[in-house]
Amino acid sequence: MDTSKYLAGEVTARQDLCADLWTMRLRLPSAFAFQPGQYATLALEDADGVHERPYSIVSSPAEAELEFFFELVPHGEVTPRLYQLRPGDTVYVRKSAKGLFVLDRKRGHGQHLLVSTVTGVAPFVSMLRSWARDASWAPAGTRMVLIHAGSRSWEFGYAEELRQLAAGLPGVQLVLSVSRHWEDADWTGERGRAEDLIRKYADAAGFGAGSTAAYLCGHPQMIENAKGMLTRCGFPKADLHEEIYFILPKAAAH
Ligand SMILES: Cc1cc2nc3c(=O)[nH]c(=O)nc-3n(C[C@H](O)[C@H](O)[C@H](O)COP(=O)(O)OP(=O)(O)OC[C@H]3O[C@@H](n4cnc5c(N)ncnc54)[C@H](O)[C@@H]3O)c2cc1C
Repeated sequence: MDTSKYLAGEVTARQDLCADLWTMRLRLPSAFAFQPGQYATLALEDADGVHERPYSIVSSPAEAELEFFFELVPHGEVTPRLYQLRPGDTVYVRKSAKGLFVLDRKRGHGQHLLVSTVTGVAPFVSMLRSWARDASWAPAGTRMVLIHAGSRSWEFGYAEELRQLAAGLPGVQLVLSVSRHWEDADWTGERGRAEDLIRKYADAAGFGAGSTAAYLCGHPQMIENAKGMLTRCGFPKADLHEEIYFILPKAAAH
C-alpha cells in the first residue's frame, strides 16, 4: 500500500447489530483532521489490487479513534472485504477527510432538519457528539430535528445514544421511525419512511422554507423524494444538502 497516500488504521473494536450492519472503530498512527459530517476513504489491498470507498465518520473530531457504521452489500466490491475485519486487523485510510456535508453556517439559519436512512445517520451522530462535547460547536439557539428511519428498529445502531444526546441538547428533537413495522412487532414508535414524516415534524417545529437548512443522507430514493417534497415547500436549492451513498442500478431495459 502507498503509505504516502494512506494511513494504516488498526481495528480496535467491532459491534454487529444484525447480519448486515456493524460498527467499527479504528486507531490511526497520527492525527486525522476532519469536520463533523465529513467522510474518510477506506481502502483494503489484496491480490486483486486496492479496493476503496468513502465512509461517513461517526466519531467526533475530539475522539482518539475513528468510528464507522457499515452496511454489507453482499455482491459489493468493498463491504464483503470490510466485513471480514476483526480487532487487530488493518484497514487503510486516505490521509485527508473530504466532503461538504457539514453544518451550514454560511446561510445563517438557526434551524437544521437532518434526515437519514440507516447508516446515513453517521454524519449526524458526529455532529451531535461534537455539540454535546462543546456547546460552542453550534451557535446559541440552534435547533435541530433529526428524522432517522430504518426498515426495522434493530437497524438504528445509535438509537440509545441519540436519545441521550437529544435529551441533553435542549434544541434537538429526535424522531426514529420504522417503515416495515409489521416485521417488528415490538416497535411502538413512529412508523413510515423518513420522507413520509418530514412535513409532519418540520411543520410542527416551525422549520419552514427560508429559515431552515435541510441535510439528507443515505438511500438515494429517500434523498430524491425528500428533495422533491422540500422543493415543493419552497426550500431553495442552497438550503438542501445531500450525501447520496450509492447510485441505484438502472431498471432493466424492456
Ligand atoms: C460520501 C459517502 C459516504 C458514505 N458513507 C457510508 C457509510 O457511512 N456507511 C456505509 O455503509 N456506506 C457508506 N457509503 C457507501 C459506500 O461508499 C459504498 O458505496 C458501499 O459501502 C457499497 O460498497 P461496495 O464496494 O460493497 O459495493 P459496490 O461494489 O460499490 O456496489 C455494488 C452495487 O450495489 C449497489 N449498492 C451500494 N450500496 C448499496 C446499499 N447500501 N444498498 C443497496 N445497494 C447498494 C451499488 O449501486 C452497486 O450497484 C457512503 C458513500 C458516500 C458517497
